[in-house]
Amino acid sequence: MAYKITDECISCGACEAECPVSAISEGDGKFVIDPGKCIDCGACAGVCPVGAPVAE
Ligand code: SF4
Ligand code: SF4
Repeated sequence: MAYKITDECISCGACEAECPVSAISEGDGKFVIDPGKCIDCGACAGVCPVGAPVAE
């Protein structure tokens, strides 16, 4: 299981700093989560202003 960032992302960057395992990076038009690193903690969803990170 891993979180995924939807197209709602406005590339604010807030989630990247919150991720405890550095799974988030800036992608093409939105930020992306590396599913191999994500530990499903939900911190990114907690700080996102638009609710873009969702649990799969
Ligand atoms: Fe990082 Fe946690 Fe978000 Fe996964 S759920 S990308 S571990 S902040
Ligand atoms: Fe995108 Fe939300 Fe992360 Fe900001 S906090 S970069 S809007 S997913």
